[in-house]
Amino acid sequence: MKKALVLLSGGPDSAALVHWANEKGYDVSTLNFNLGDSKSKARVHAAESISKRITDSAYYVDLKTTKNISPSVLVTLAADYALKINADKLFYGIHKNDTVNKEGISYFNNTLSETISLKAGKNFHVEAPFLYYSQSEVLNLGEYLDTDFSETWSCKNRTDSHCGYCDSCVERIKHFSEAGVTDDTNYHLEKTLFFYR
Ligand SMILES: [Zn+2]
Repeated sequence: MKKALVLLSGGPDSAALVHWANEKGYDVSTLNFNLGDSKSKARVHAAESISKRITDSAYYVDLKTTKNISPSVLVTLAADYALKINADKLFYGIHKNDTVNKEGISYFNNTLSETISLKAGKNFHVEAPFLYYSQSEVLNLGEYLDTDFSETWSCKNRTDSHCGYCDSCVERIKHFSEAGVTDDTNYHLEKTLFFYR
């Protein structure tokens, strides 16, 4: 069985990706980076819940003291971690609404894959399986694969329940609504209040 490491932020997209990799038959491990931002504490907790459903192999790396790490550096660090646990692939959950430069992301993934394969002396792949999926398609796929989105985390304001009004919560509400996917999130502020205020 091929072993894959999934970069799991604890948000809905990477949660769907964990289920996708499992469905594809990979021996899945997960990796969560604690970046020390406003979402981190709740996201580590979310990553724990999500991982437990699929795998006993969950890794947590504390990057709280390292400031302003770019996504490409995080992917590179994760790829290095994937090699350490002897994985054949690294998956991460970027989708087409996250970037205007899909070709650039593909090029980066291919270049990093080649570099690491050379270094490791084996075939290693860094892949973004959702790169050409829309946000709605990712959520729909996640729902189809029985992803429990209520365990995922987006809020920047609170750590016990989603506030319902920070920009991350507003985006979350919008994305689930646009995808037509049931949103079981426990919002502190009722959604109706948000929409009609
Ligand atoms: Zn919020």
